[in-house]
Amino acid sequence: MEIRKVGVLGAGTMGNGIAQVFAGSGYDVIMRDMGQMPLDRGLSAIQKSVGKFVEKGKMSSEESEATLNRLSTTTELRDLAGCDLVVEAIFENFEAKAASFEELDGLLRPESILASNTSSIDITRLAAVTRRPDRFIGMHFFNPVPLMSLVEIIRGFATSDETYATIRDLAVKLGKTPVEVRDYPGFVSNRVLMPMINEAIFVLYENIASKEDIDTVMKLGMNHPMGPLTLADFIGLDVCLNVLNVLYDGFRDPKYRPCPLLVKMVQAGKLGRKTGEGFHTY
Ligand code: NAD
Repeated sequence: MEIRKVGVLGAGTMGNGIAQVFAGSGYDVIMRDMGQMPLDRGLSAIQKSVGKFVEKGKMSSEESEATLNRLSTTTELRDLAGCDLVVEAIFENFEAKAASFEELDGLLRPESILASNTSSIDITRLAAVTRRPDRFIGMHFFNPVPLMSLVEIIRGFATSDETYATIRDLAVKLGKTPVEVRDYPGFVSNRVLMPMINEAIFVLYENIASKEDIDTVMKLGMNHPMGPLTLADFIGLDVCLNVLNVLYDGFRDPKYRPCPLLVKMVQAGKLGRKTGEGFHTY
């Protein structure tokens, strides 16, 4: 199936990045959020990002103008009715996502595809609220979307081969590298990353090394661009805890139990960069 018009639900961190990447690759994009304010914020993030590409000579000013011209915004879900694909990037909440997908399912043509950018909710469970589980898929982009080349493509229990092939080819057209993943908790990215971050927090909790030294070991010893505690602050400690709980509940395996120090820090409201303090101070 050919994708021409793409809807993006949510104009936040991920939604505006996803909208930018589609528009930059020649697709007509309509981005929907709950109010004008988040839409304006999303649009200005896109303008800033596109401006940087032009400054660095990675995009011509004509291309940047064309990208912005292919983008429109709305607060009305029904304006997405003509889309061939809708990528959802709203809050990480099952009920909110399910309600949007149920409504979209009734609005879109039967052949249109629904995709979710969720980091941790089961694609199969979301697909099941629609009458098109075969045309439902996970498209997990990484932040910042215009710069990060990976897309995890998550096949739900009922995702058809045709839907998978369409979305894989589409990711390539966006200039991304798709990887195929089956729908199990944490997919590949978070299943591998979060236990590493959690173990780094356990090492701190057990007083085995200082926070600075733990980060230094992984930076200099393993060539990671940033240490795991710095990365946890960057992601948000509440997000890390949430994903660990998804792994823990999903597999019922104690190896994913969140470190008590992580739980305590989230309870204390020390969530990392976004609150000015996590393992490090900002
Ligand atoms: P965010 O809080 O920055 O943005 C969410 C946006 O969705 C907000 O603007 C909000 O107003 C809007 N919204 C809420 N309900 C809506 C609805 N019903 N219709 C339209 N818009 C609605 O969140 P984010 O960081 O962009 O995350 C979005 C999704 O992407 C989540 O599922 C998250 O797990 C996933 N994700 C996030 C990252 C990341 O690094 N931030 C990476 C990969 C995946």
